Amino acid sequence: MSSRVLGVLEKDEEEEEEEEEEESMNPTEVKMSQIVMPCHSNPRQELSVGQLLKWIDSTACLSAERHAGSPCVTASMDDIHFEHTISVGQVVNIKAKVNRAFNTSMEVILKPIAPHTQREQIEYSVAAERRRVRMVHDDIIKDLLSHGSIQQTDNSAVGNAVAAERTKVESVELVLPSHANHQVNTFGGQIMAWMVNVAMIAASRLCQAHPTLQTIDMFTFRGPSQIGDRLLLRAIVNNAFKNSMEVGVRAEAYQEEGPNRHINSAFMTFEVLDDHRKPCTLPRIRPEPLEGERRFQEAIARKKIRLDRKYIISRTQGEVPLSVPWDPRNQVYLSYNNVSALRVLAARNNWRLSSEKDKVRLYTLEQKSMLSFRVESEVDIPAHRAFCLLAELSNRPSWDTHYQKCELIHRVDDDDFLYRVVAPSVRHGAVGSSTSVSRREGILQDFILLASKRNPCSSGDPYVIALRSVSLPTHPPTEGYNRGEVLCAGFTILEMKNISLISYYNQASPEVLPYISTDIAGLSSSFYHTFCSCSQYLTKNRLQFTSEEQTGQYKATNTDSPNCEN
Ligand code: ADP
Repeated sequence: MSSRVLGVLEKDEEEEEEEEEEESMNPTEVKMSQIVMPCHSNPRQELSVGQLLKWIDSTACLSAERHAGSPCVTASMDDIHFEHTISVGQVVNIKAKVNRAFNTSMEVILKPIAPHTQREQIEYSVAAERRRVRMVHDDIIKDLLSHGSIQQTDNSAVGNAVAAERTKVESVELVLPSHANHQVNTFGGQIMAWMVNVAMIAASRLCQAHPTLQTIDMFTFRGPSQIGDRLLLRAIVNNAFKNSMEVGVRAEAYQEEGPNRHINSAFMTFEVLDDHRKPCTLPRIRPEPLEGERRFQEAIARKKIRLDRKYIISRTQGEVPLSVPWDPRNQVYLSYNNVSALRVLAARNNWRLSSEKDKVRLYTLEQKSMLSFRVESEVDIPAHRAFCLLAELSNRPSWDTHYQKCELIHRVDDDDFLYRVVAPSVRHGAVGSSTSVSRREGILQDFILLASKRNPCSSGDPYVIALRSVSLPTHPPTEGYNRGEVLCAGFTILEMKNISLISYYNQASPEVLPYISTDIAGLSSSFYHTFCSCSQYLTKNRLQFTSEEQTGQYKATNTDSPNCEN
């Protein structure tokens, strides 16, 4: 089971409203309310983070048990950001429900869960992407360090630096029945609370003040621990930045006999706040040789990852600038953002059918200041084949006249690609004209797109090909081209007994808005023609191998695409 806490903190108002509207009957939902008593608080009369983690963990476990029908323990937790403190006397409300069950989950093999409400559908879809991020986290750190992009710091030059050894903490806890569930497994929340406790002491040794926990990085339990285990907890400050420090904690379990078992490692960020709650400047740290120096460097890599993640993932879609700079180290978060934005858009339940022609349906979705559209139809082609054909974006100019040219810039991995797309530019015509959009002579547009393709995680899940703009230092805007931006676009392809339900989505940026608004207003049917052309391209190539399926240089047959001009 994986507890997800971040989602509770990052919900935007719009989603809250929608959630209230569809007050769900999710059978796995568990609510817990606690009044914060002095025994739950730290010396500043605020709820201790350890206590909060215990409550969150036990609520999440109860919810997981409702789904699994057997006792569960926490396997991992995503990042937790602490944004507010909670005082003695306040009430804490915690709500947990199962978003998605993966059958490789550590503790139970779980039956699949069917999402009901829109909110649940969104959480279900995005859970798969989050899991992907969790899995590549260690690789990103290795990559960051091996590419030498972390500056080597000459610590001997820092005169008044504090020796890291002075922050070292070691503590042992005996796991008693009150720390474990009725299956004798230690509660994950209890272990985390102990880990926070030693980390807090290590942090206070650097700053000689009361530190405030800001973030806990996502972490994974490597194995269970049980009543009777001794838990050895060790912490040290790995690095101190100007206003924050990273403390690492390692938890090992042992019995009277036998080796130590590594249970968990976590990295926590602390800061020290002054009376106005402004972060204070911290002393620098002088790491211990070898291991300490390695951790010092790794802490810098994690800091970068934390920033990227906070910036790219945890913001709501509208807050992320359109073209986030692409870089191999933030790639995983950009594709997370790319895929989850499309999944979230697809899972919205307020799409309105705007027009239908020969079973090609055009839907629109209005959200605050955003207009999105979806073109959808069934196509006689197996979903996997359609996925392979559509994922090869470089073939798109053969069926879509909105794509004049499409070149592959970089194959990031098997599922993610960077393309440069050249498109004809558009300008607005006279109001009331039936050709309100026309090509502007000589000026073209180009886009740098990240394309992320994903197979379904389970039956009933669609294939996804998500597109979003990124910026690349190697491909700056050039003369003669207007650099356009795509916020969120792409395809979902759903298998339907040998035919496919193909949906194309686009969250309209100013560049594409003129195309759609004419269609939506009924002034043209450009998207109908484009979709027909796409559908012809797919059916013509339905039986042939794509270059992915055949390692050779096969190129899908181009269609004689009809003129899709307005
Ligand atoms: P890593 O050394 O790769 O960071 P570990 O799981 O060994 O991974 O340790 C996690 C963190 O726990 C370390 O970064 C360090 O901050 C802390 N730690 C590990 N061993 C000790 C120790 N003997 N004393 C104090 N802190 C330790």
